[in-house]
Amino acid sequence: MTEQGGGVSAAIDVTRPSVARMYDYYLGGKDNFEIDRDAVRRVEKAMPEVRRLAQENRAFLRRAVRHMARQGIRQFIDIGSGLPTAGNTHEIAQQIVPDARVVYVDNDPVVLQHGRALLATDEHTAVASADMRQPAAVIGHPETAKLIDFSEPVGVLMIAMVHFLTMDEQSRIMGELRDVLSSGSHFAATHVTRDGHSADSVAQIEAVYAATPTPIYFREHAEVARFFDGFDLVDPGLVTIDMWHPDPDDPAPEATRWLYGGVGRKP
Ligand code: SAH
Repeated sequence: MTEQGGGVSAAIDVTRPSVARMYDYYLGGKDNFEIDRDAVRRVEKAMPEVRRLAQENRAFLRRAVRHMARQGIRQFIDIGSGLPTAGNTHEIAQQIVPDARVVYVDNDPVVLQHGRALLATDEHTAVASADMRQPAAVIGHPETAKLIDFSEPVGVLMIAMVHFLTMDEQSRIMGELRDVLSSGSHFAATHVTRDGHSADSVAQIEAVYAATPTPIYFREHAEVARFFDGFDLVDPGLVTIDMWHPDPDDPAPEATRWLYGGVGRKP
């Protein structure tokens, strides 16, 4: 259970809302400050169902991880893991593959601090401090090297993450990640969409995130699909997450239809 530096600032920035702490507040966590809660209240004005969205997103993560584990994936990289919550990736994966290995990657100092205590609990899990914009730093991180064998299939999660990338960054970053993965590897992502929603609400939410270190981009289906270039989308494809293998044994809250999600397999 260790965490190594990766060129990521260790200082907690309390002068701007943090997306990790805002997300923690959406999920009912306590690792957030007034500045984060204030930003969340502004998001809620445009998107009153944002807390449900966060729960719905976590339910998709659990279903995607179970799907991958059932396909025989035994090792996972959870990029932008967020603060520990109920049903973390290794807990879900290990219900199906008891010795599944998971590297959690994040660049938020609060996540890294809590992650070290709660996510990196045994020799099968680790927390790495790295930036998703530098796939080489994620892939080459000492914790990744210790747990992940890239000659075997890997499950890569970028859940509620890729909407923080510009379309220019998308092709380089996704390309570098994809190239290192062996055939049979899987990639899961969710991404906020503007399809079916008012342009005003979208603009208001984008404005809140524009004042954080992580601007967010609401996109349409065809743009989101590009993140899966080079992967074969597994059935039913890229859909609003309520449509992706709903599981009566692990019900999600009522659909918000703010998120597209999918799982791709590297051929
Ligand atoms: N994947 C989780 C958490 C999403 S919240 C889930 O879906 O439930 C987004 C997380 O991404 C936060 O923890 C934030 O700190 C992290 N993050 C944002 N930008 C990042 C970057 N460039 N590199 C690594 N992590 C990042």
